[in-house]
Amino acid sequence: FSYLNAEVAGDQFFSNPRLSMKVMETGTKIAQELAEALSTLREAGVSTRRYGKTLDEAEQILADQELNPDQIKDVLSTLAAATRDISNKNQALSDQLENSTREVNELRNTLHKARSEALTDSLTGVANRKQFDETLQFRIAESVSLNYPLSLLLVDIDKFKAFNDTWGHQAGDQVIRFVAATMQRLALPDHLVARYGGEEFAVIMPRATAAEARKFGERMRLTIEAKRLMRKSTNEFLGTVTISGGIAELLPDETGPQLIERSDSNLYASKHNGRNQVTVTENAARPAGRNAA
Ligand code: GH3
Ligand code: MG
Ligand code: MG
Repeated sequence: FSYLNAEVAGDQFFSNPRLSMKVMETGTKIAQELAEALSTLREAGVSTRRYGKTLDEAEQILADQELNPDQIKDVLSTLAAATRDISNKNQALSDQLENSTREVNELRNTLHKARSEALTDSLTGVANRKQFDETLQFRIAESVSLNYPLSLLLVDIDKFKAFNDTWGHQAGDQVIRFVAATMQRLALPDHLVARYGGEEFAVIMPRATAAEARKFGERMRLTIEAKRLMRKSTNEFLGTVTISGGIAELLPDETGPQLIERSDSNLYASKHNGRNQVTVTENAARPAGRNAA
């Protein structure tokens, strides 16, 4: 059975029109910049070859010993003009290249920002479902290749519908932000805290056994339970909320969906047994792997 509803759309990249527009515009602009830079470089090649020809011709003329002062003056003024010309052109080309470089850098930053926005939940600022899916894949592969444990904690706010019904959706959003921030604060830097669905969260914990993950889950549960919630705008006391959690540790040959399913059924057990608790399945002792000490 599955406890999670996960009603939040995972793929914000395409469900956020402003963002996908920005990314497409960015791509088009980069293509234009690159085309301009290429034609600039091509022009530079032509000008340089033309200048080289002018120098060669001047050299040939000057090799003639019979030149009178006026002819020499002519050659020198041609050379001076050509040199000024190429120098101006070089300056313009260098300006344009600098410009292009700056713009390409700006565009790279925009793209980077767009990507990180596409992986972030906008209400809470923690990772969204898309980032959760990507990271879980990556961490499972890492865990298998390095023979490290990997644990997954799933969390769901208890009786949250009632909270919303009593205090309103705005106050509910504030609580979702509070739960996300608390989990993020108590997690380690290499843990990934994600909003998995509406009032559902997940923490991917690399290098953590189920027993270690339980400590984080319990710390999060106790901290959230202890918080006296106040409405931001009016300071009205809203009571407290609790969370239920389920933890599973990756088994040999297990897939992401299977790990999620086992964490989810532990979450279901926590709900079934009265909520405000974390249920854990501990794995049998790990066999000594090739990377084990
Ligand atoms: P349980 O202890 O079994 O989890 O009870 P519950 O009421 O939390 O469970 P249920 O899944 O029935 O309700 C989840 C509620 O969470 C439904 C909805 O009102 C609320 N919710 C989901 N997403 C959001 C959100 O983004 N903002 C707010 N304010 N509420 C949300
Ligand atoms: Mg739920
Ligand atoms: Mg709930």
